[in-house]
Amino acid sequence: MITSQAQSTYNFTNCTRCGKKRVFLKTWKEELETYSGVSVLTHTETICPDKDCQKIVEKELEAKRVKNETMKAEREERVMKQRAQISSKKAK
Ligand SMILES: [Zn+2]
Repeated sequence: MITSQAQSTYNFTNCTRCGKKRVFLKTWKEELETYSGVSVLTHTETICPDKDCQKIVEKELEAKRVKNETMKAEREERVMKQRAQISSKKAK
């Protein structure tokens, strides 16, 4: 039986919009310094072979990114406010 998790690891090679096999644009390596030494991360960027489709995908990704950042900022603001409330209660 194939789990959905195992399948999802292959999804990145197919376009999320049109389902075409994505092509490799570039790969690059990033060195990360960790406590146990330097570990090398390999990044792979793939694009849709359909230029128009890729443009739409990029727009969607950008919109998602902006939305995520807005949500993250709002969440951080809430946490900051909560912390301020807690510390003001403790001070009394
Ligand atoms: Zn596509």
